[in-house]
Formats: sequence, C-alpha cells, structure tokens
Amino acid sequence: MKPNGHPIVVNGRNYKAPERPTVVICLDGSEPGYIERAIDAGVAPTFARFMKDGAHVHATSVIPSFTNPNNLSIITGRPPSVHGIAGNYFYDTANDAEVMMNDPKFLRAPTILAGVHDAGFKVAAVTAKDKLRTLLSHGLDYASGRAIAFSSEKANQATKADNGIDNVLDFVGLPLPEVYSAGLSEFVFAAGVKLVRHHRPDLMYLSTTDYIQHKVGLGTRIANDFYAMIDGYLAQLDELGCNIVATADHGMNDKYLPDGKPDVLYLQDVMDGWAGKGETRVILPITDPYVAHHGALGSFATIYTRPGRSVDRLLGQLRGMTGIDLALTRDDACARFELPADRIGDIVVISSKHKVLGTSRDRHDLSGLTEPLRSHGGLTEERVPVIANRKIALPPGHALRNFDAFDVALNRVQ
Ligand code: ZN
Ligand code: ZN
Repeated sequence: MKPNGHPIVVNGRNYKAPERPTVVICLDGSEPGYIERAIDAGVAPTFARFMKDGAHVHATSVIPSFTNPNNLSIITGRPPSVHGIAGNYFYDTANDAEVMMNDPKFLRAPTILAGVHDAGFKVAAVTAKDKLRTLLSHGLDYASGRAIAFSSEKANQATKADNGIDNVLDFVGLPLPEVYSAGLSEFVFAAGVKLVRHHRPDLMYLSTTDYIQHKVGLGTRIANDFYAMIDGYLAQLDELGCNIVATADHGMNDKYLPDGKPDVLYLQDVMDGWAGKGETRVILPITDPYVAHHGALGSFATIYTRPGRSVDRLLGQLRGMTGIDLALTRDDACARFELPADRIGDIVVISSKHKVLGTSRDRHDLSGLTEPLRSHGGLTEERVPVIANRKIALPPGHALRNFDAFDVALNRVQ
C-alpha cells in the first residue's frame, strides 16, 4: 500500500507498494531448460534452491517473441496493443518509411516502475543494451533523487541528470563490457547488487541480453557458465533480503539446416514471385542495429500490401507452404496476439520451430553469423520460466504471462 493505504494503479492493474527491495529480472532468451541443465551440472545451486523452496512455473510471452515487445509488456504489465511496441520496426505507410520504434515517443503506456516512483518510492533499472534503457526508463524523474537507470553498454556515459547516477564504472567496479559479450549481462547483475547495497531501491528491474542464448544451446559449457555467473549474483540479492522474480522475454531455438546454414524462407522474394515486385513490403520487426548474432532473422514477419488489395489469395498460398506455422490477417493477428493494428502489416506470418523468415536474400548480411543460427520470434519460443526466491500464490487456473512478473513480485509473494 502507498502511505495513504491505496494500491498503486498502473494501466488499470493494482500493485501493492514494495515492503522490501523487490527485483524483477528479465533473463533475455532463457528458453526453459537452460537453468535446469546448469542445475544438473551442479553450477546453479541458488536457482535450484529458489525453484525448490520458492517458485518455478512456466508462462507465455508476447508474440512476436522478440525482446522489445516483451520487455515493454513486462514493465507496463500489458500487451503491445496497450503499450504500442510491437517490434523494433514498423512501416509508416503515410510517409513510406520503415521506422525504428526504440524512441519513447512510440510508447503509449506508462511503466510500473514510473508508477511506483511517482507514488514516492525509490526505483532503479539496469539494462544490457542502451536502446532498451531509453524505453524502460521513460517517465522517471531523476531530479527526485529516487530514480536510477542506465545500461551496461553506455555505463561510462551515465550522468546524474540523465541517469540519476554518475561514475558507474567505479561504482560497479568492472570495466565497460563489449556489446557482444556475456560481460554485458554480468555488468547488469553486478550493478544490481551494488544498487541494492548502496541505494536500496524499493523496486528494481534488471534486463540482460541474449547474446549467449543465440550462440549456444542448453547444457553447453558456455551456457552453464553464464547461468552459474547469474546464480552467484542471485545468491547475493537473496542474501540482501530482496524479493526476486525472474522471467524471460522469449525462448530460443536452433534455426539451421543439417549443413549448418540458416534455414531461411526469404519472404520478400516469395511475395515478389506471387504478387509482383513492388506490390508488397515485408517487415522483420527483429531488425535492429545489433544484428551480428542473428542476421536480422527471426520467426515473425509482417507484410504490407497495396491499399485495397485483397490478401486472401496470398494467405492461402502462405498457409500451403511448409515451414509456416501461421499466416493471419492483421485483424486476426491483432485479436489473437493483442497487437497495435496501426503498427502491423496486412498479413502476419510466423514460421515453424527451426525456420526463420527473411526479406530478400540480397538484403541479409550473414557474415556476422559465426555459429549456426539460433533465434526466436514465433510461437515455438513463447514458453518462458518464472522463478521466484519465495513462494507465490496464483489464482487457480491462472494462465500466467511473462508480463505478470511485477504483479507476481509485488502482489503474489507469500
Ligand atoms: Zn530477447
Ligand atoms: Zn534475440
């Protein structure tokens, strides 16, 4: 409860005020099994203890099972139809431009973090990549002295005015990590522990990057080392008396052929063949400036067609293709996945477990793919873990979503 005894209301959902430091964590790309395999290898005793004495359940992510839509859903407690972020890119038909959605001006809902901050509490957010920090920290007032938000990527550039903290590298005690590294995520946790020790935020959000999960599968030495690293920081946060709830933005699957080459369906080439060149535009909302680890290839695409053009024939053809799990009209996709209709094309296409969708073959630079492709975006990456260090009480039959994480952390911990 707030000092006046009322719950904090954000986007129509009620949250109890934090009674002890509460930490919500998004373990980017944590396909179910990564943590279990690290436990089996004997390197994740804290996770093992949380899952035994606290809570471990599965939830579903937002579709597209990409990073930004899910992080924004987690921090607003609502699907993309409410917060507006349906991917990294959408096509602005009025201006004939592909627009990147990593600016807070595209965000249509306040965050739970800002709501709790506005109610008078101390909050903090640490992300791996800076593009996410700008969205997740939207609405925080650093002049209040009760808000801190920065990214590992640009930790060296943090200022009191823009981040509520400066000299972050000295504070965390680690050098600035490489963007493509496990160190980018380790810095998030190291910073989180320091923040709890020295600033004691009432509510904190930590969000890592899926560099490791794109690179290697469950149970590999590299993956186990990564979760062992996280495990050590979780032990410290637990020791500091935090309520901890960890979930993921999406899972991760192999997306390559027996010869190790990515299994890609180049959708723009297919569309050009069926409808004629210039008749359709395929948008891949996974595209972002950091494509080296996935080549902008994921299992979700949206297709814009000329205004007034019927999509029935294209839908029928798409549904007949192997490797396509779903082809839906905009209306059906927005109803089923709670997406913002003005940021989705006329058709939504989702590929199968081991297949990814591209635009045209010549538009993808796959030279950065040093490992067989692993990626996400589809229905086959929507199952994610929810793990807490204390027992949680869920209403019977509740279909848990990853964006219930703050509700679990603030309202459901016993
Ligand atoms: Zn992600
Ligand atoms: Zn990813």
